[in-house]
Amino acid sequence: MKPFPVLLTFDLDGETAFEEMHPGIGYYVTQGGYGPRKGVYRIMDLLDQYDIKATFCVVGQTAERYPEAVEEIISRGHEIACHGYTHRGYNALDPEIEIEYIKKSRGLLEDFTGERILGHRTPRWRPSERTHKNLVDLGFLWNSDYMGSEECFYNKIDGEASRLLEIPVAYNLDDWTFYFDWGANVKETVDVWEIEFDARYKDRSLFCLTNHPQVTGRPSRLLCLKGIIEYACKYPDVEFMKATDYVKEYWG
Ligand SMILES: [Zn+2]
Repeated sequence: MKPFPVLLTFDLDGETAFEEMHPGIGYYVTQGGYGPRKGVYRIMDLLDQYDIKATFCVVGQTAERYPEAVEEIISRGHEIACHGYTHRGYNALDPEIEIEYIKKSRGLLEDFTGERILGHRTPRWRPSERTHKNLVDLGFLWNSDYMGSEECFYNKIDGEASRLLEIPVAYNLDDWTFYFDWGANVKETVDVWEIEFDARYKDRSLFCLTNHPQVTGRPSRLLCLKGIIEYACKYPDVEFMKATDYVKEYWG
């Protein structure tokens, strides 16, 4: 039996998520900038302690503003995936803007990596009805927006299964939901993640965590990430994987 896969994914939004939701309000926007300025480094230092490689979904504008953060993510051996050019959901974009943004963000991220970027997560987890076809046409291997399943599946386009693998996400495995939407504390959060981990381990599905450097990069919240890493490490057959490695090894 293959190891139980654990995917730690980090959405490097920078200011863009708050700029979209609360434009011009520094109180919010500076929280976003904390991610690429400080939080991402704290997270990478933690991952280094456990020799874990992760996947960072990076907004194009954030890569332009904080190139040093993107370079550091790459130099430490993590994967870079596309997370839009701005943080607007694609369902709110005109069709020609959506495809332009996907191409633009992938192109500028590939200038950093020097290799093809194969993964994508739509800003705000809001794809349009065109998104999956666009991603297939552009050669992406995986997308990660859907919440209706714990198991991966191939997205359907015009009723036919495509070769675009969907890596499902979940509200109860997202740091933003706990701390911003629900006002949870660190202990409550890690308790839920451990219970969810046990259930998914039993089902042999997948444990895919979505964290944000502007959220989990704070000192106390980092202890929650550390807690779930140590919890997962207690299991003998757990493997922390970059998303594209997982897709190729388990779905290739
Ligand atoms: Zn995001």
